[in-house]
Amino acid sequence: MAEHEHVRVAVVGSGFGGLGAAVRLRREGVTDFVVLERAGSVGGTWRDNSYPGCACDVPSHLYSFSFAPHPDWPRSFSGQEHIRAYLEHVTDTFGLRPHLRFDSEVKRMVWDTERLWWEIETGNGTLTADVVVSATGPLSEPRVPDIPGLDTFPGKVFHSARWDHDHDLRGQRVAVVGTGASAIQIVPAIQPLVSRLTLFQRTPPWVLPRMDRAISGAERALHRALPFTTRLRRGLLWGVRELQVQAFTKHPGELGLVEQLARRNMARAVKDPALRAKLTPDYRIGCKRILLSSTYYPAIVRPNVDVVAGGLSEVRGSTVVAADGTEAEADVIVFGTGFHVTDMPIAERVVGAEGRTLAETWTGGMEALRGASAAGFPNWMTLIGPNTGLGNSSMILMIESQLNYLADYLRQLDLLGGRVALDARRSAVRVWNHRVQQRMKHTVWNTGGCTSWYLDANGRNTTVWPGTTGEFRRATRRVDLSEYAVLRAPAKKTTAPHENTEVAA
Ligand SMILES: Cc1cc2nc3c(=O)[nH]c(=O)nc-3n(C[C@H](O)[C@H](O)[C@H](O)COP(=O)(O)OP(=O)(O)OC[C@H]3O[C@@H](n4cnc5c(N)ncnc54)[C@H](O)[C@@H]3O)c2cc1C
Repeated sequence: MAEHEHVRVAVVGSGFGGLGAAVRLRREGVTDFVVLERAGSVGGTWRDNSYPGCACDVPSHLYSFSFAPHPDWPRSFSGQEHIRAYLEHVTDTFGLRPHLRFDSEVKRMVWDTERLWWEIETGNGTLTADVVVSATGPLSEPRVPDIPGLDTFPGKVFHSARWDHDHDLRGQRVAVVGTGASAIQIVPAIQPLVSRLTLFQRTPPWVLPRMDRAISGAERALHRALPFTTRLRRGLLWGVRELQVQAFTKHPGELGLVEQLARRNMARAVKDPALRAKLTPDYRIGCKRILLSSTYYPAIVRPNVDVVAGGLSEVRGSTVVAADGTEAEADVIVFGTGFHVTDMPIAERVVGAEGRTLAETWTGGMEALRGASAAGFPNWMTLIGPNTGLGNSSMILMIESQLNYLADYLRQLDLLGGRVALDARRSAVRVWNHRVQQRMKHTVWNTGGCTSWYLDANGRNTTVWPGTTGEFRRATRRVDLSEYAVLRAPAKKTTAPHENTEVAA
């Protein structure tokens, strides 16, 4: 490799994960790092998802960093623009700008078995790094199904995460495909504008009311004057959600009561029994993500909305056709069809010690030690990796746990000294994932009678954490060196990968 830049740590992505990692690195005294971001600004999820109605399903005071509390959240559940502004504010407050490299999409990362570093090719040049923190996001690569005839559609087509704000929907006939978390926020936001809205529903979601409200000036003043009240509020929000976890993971039967609430939420707005039947899921609540909305059902009973019980199966010119043969005319198709999750796109771009990509290593399903480290990919750590997702709480809690793990990982490397790397032992990865999958057997995600994006192509749940966030916090407090092989570059320059010495930890 010709003359190139070398850093101690390369962070990939500048959403909550990447920015959190950057703050933590600085706090640990590591300043020799860069944050590589393919876009032109920070924010990740909350930059890319700007569709009408986009908002968080977790209360604001919990969906934020514990180290950057925000007493001035204007609503109990934040909208996209407030979360995006919060992340810009975090970037400035913690002095992260000098580390950011925008328009630097990581195309390929290759582990150099001789020098024990990562060679990283970006859209903006090449660099090397001792450690890579991959924070490319679990929901950052839009998934658009392969619909026959889509190329014949003369109108506008876009995905919820790539909203075309230049296209005016007023008076248009819009087909919305999907009824997941994004779609049920989009529908009530655009229904009053459009002439006709056809909603393609493959599987109905369970929907609970959204207890959103403005946070009063007095509450905000209190939080500003007495910062511990912000922490208290966060603690209460966290505690309630921790108590719910058992029902999801061990006793799905207990969710029956929640199901009743969801049924009542629907019955309040949907008076037509035939439509209610169409909208009622046939699986246990919680199996798919429980959605929160107080405006979804009132919107779909409006006269300009048709709910088609079936996915979009074909497009013939401006005619959109459902799986049950129902046809409608459309000027715009909006795909609210989610993201590539269990086939994490970055995995195709990471080449490990054995010359194989992470995607090739994961053909049987994603797995990583403590949601972070994959065997054969030394000094490469992913944030929100396999089995770190949550069904009912804030992902920021999980990210912060992984940042503890990252900080200890770097400390361990320092203590070992010299040019050194840690490679997760296959046996440790196996044991960790066996435990996770054993616990998964009893969860509502696996037993609730649905197929969801939590499950991979083999039907294995490789996305959700089957425990409390407290358990995950404890499991990631420290790096257990016995779970890693310690790789050292030989004192003399060598040429072959097998010449790395593995030192028992
Ligand atoms: C619409 C929506 C609503 C959500 N609501 C909630 C919620 O209510 N509660 C909750 O807990 N979670 C929610 N989530 C999940 C959310 O993604 C996480 O909470 C969190 O924001 C993830 O942060 P991240 O930094 O890991 O990923 P992201 O925010 O996705 O950031 C990843 C970053 O990596 C960049 N990137 C990707 N690939 C590359 C590459 N090859 N090179 C360089 N840069 C790259 C991307 O451009 C992006 O900036 C929601 C997600 C979506 C999409």
